Amino acid sequence: MTDDCMTEDWLLRAEEICMQCGGHCCDEAHPPISPEGHKRLLSLGVSPDVFESVGYLRLKVQEDGHCIMMKDGRCSIHRIKPETCRAGPFTFDVTGDQINVYLKHERICPVVGLLKTVPEAYRTQYDLAAQNIARLVAHLPPDELCEICRIDEPETDKVDEIPRLDA
Ligand code: SF4
Ligand code: SF4
Repeated sequence: MTDDCMTEDWLLRAEEICMQCGGHCCDEAHPPISPEGHKRLLSLGVSPDVFESVGYLRLKVQEDGHCIMMKDGRCSIHRIKPETCRAGPFTFDVTGDQINVYLKHERICPVVGLLKTVPEAYRTQYDLAAQNIARLVAHLPPDELCEICRIDEPETDKVDEIPRLDA
């Protein structure tokens, strides 16, 4: 099997797992949006009505609890979705100049089982997550970052520490 086939294989398996899951990570998701991300999403045609500020800027949810950008069971802004959506199932908090990276438990995100058994899948998704998290942290105003770091992230394990780009 070539490397390309292997890549395709785990990506297809990941897509299948996410389809079966039905986007659990988009329920009550409220991804945080940096000022730069806000400007970018608006410039790409996203409505100003989908955002709310609760000490930091984030996407709203619909009445049924799904993220406001979820349409017909899919992310309607998949290609331009916010950093924390790209980073999943990794998440983060910040201690001083250090970003702590966490991985969700398989119980709440079934694709974690695949990441733990396919090193290439883990490495690829971890790298994407670390880049997106570091960029988001660098672009968030300090008070908004503090608010976001107060959000409890149960059922996660710390897997790494990375330096802040803005430290
Ligand atoms: S990333 Fe995890 S929680 Fe989200 S849809 Fe895929 S399996 Fe479900
Ligand atoms: S922006 Fe898309 S991927 Fe992110 S929580 Fe909303 S629907 Fe899910």
